[in-house]
Amino acid sequence: MGKKPEQLWTAPAREILRADPDSPIADLDRNGTPGFIGKKADGKRQLEERGAVLAELQELLYANGRSGDERSILLVLQGMDTSGKGGMVRHVIGHVDPQGVDHTAFGVPTANEKRHHFLWRIEKALPRAGQLGVFDRSHYEDVLVARVDDLVPKKVWQGRYKEINNFEKELVNRGTTIVKVAMFVSLDEQKERLQERLERPDKYWKYSPGDVTARKRWPEYRKAYQAMLDRTNTDYAPWYVVPADRKWYSRIAVTELLIDAFERLDLDWPPADFDIEKEKRRLAAS
Ligand code: ATP
Repeated sequence: MGKKPEQLWTAPAREILRADPDSPIADLDRNGTPGFIGKKADGKRQLEERGAVLAELQELLYANGRSGDERSILLVLQGMDTSGKGGMVRHVIGHVDPQGVDHTAFGVPTANEKRHHFLWRIEKALPRAGQLGVFDRSHYEDVLVARVDDLVPKKVWQGRYKEINNFEKELVNRGTTIVKVAMFVSLDEQKERLQERLERPDKYWKYSPGDVTARKRWPEYRKAYQAMLDRTNTDYAPWYVVPADRKWYSRIAVTELLIDAFERLDLDWPPADFDIEKEKRRLAAS
């Protein structure tokens, strides 16, 4: 008999993966599996078992949303190319009913988006009541690529950390639980994943020459990611740092973080807003 999922974690993922100012990302073992004592096969099994739990919790949130509960959950995924954001959406979010998911991938802003404040397109994509929102990249690009590639003056991106914190605080006050996940892949593992994209016709579409350009700017990106973690790791919207060289690990880690966020909403099935006995009689007579 294998161990139960909870026996394979030495402590809750929420505690182990919480961004910590005393543990800079430069020191992060990106191949590590912090807090998880199982092997890959255990991880794969766990993903299925806990994915089913996640699906039920999401249905609870959806049901409550239909009954007037305003709350929602927003998963923010940030990471360099090949860190596995897309796979996270397929393999973790893929467990839940797509009706309950508001998913948005943020690419280079369109001409129209560029005419607006950087949070304009984010506002429009926020999850509705009862929904699980998923951001594949996010407003954090505006303090990452915008900073590294000098897309705006320093004064502008520097002011954005505070703007983001204020924005997220408001969001939390309106009933959204924000789960922010920064995924970190090692330079070597990234190279292998990019190589695969160049060797397999079914992966060519995922490759973009800009990915190699970004590799050259790795140290600047690391600095930008560190600043992001340092400046926006708030109590109301904390960051979680997830090593991403082992995809099976990052997927179960995020599954746990989401389950935890759902459980903290302390949801129950909404009571019937009709007379159950009367409806049973009406149905029997119909
Ligand atoms: P991915 O690399 O996420 O799999 P992709 O290569 O298909 O996606 P897109 O999703 O179209 O590309 O866009 C991702 C790119 O958009 C990234 O290079 C990212 O840095 C850039 N981007 C996202 N948001 C912004 C922003 N606010 N300003 C500038 N560039 C941005």
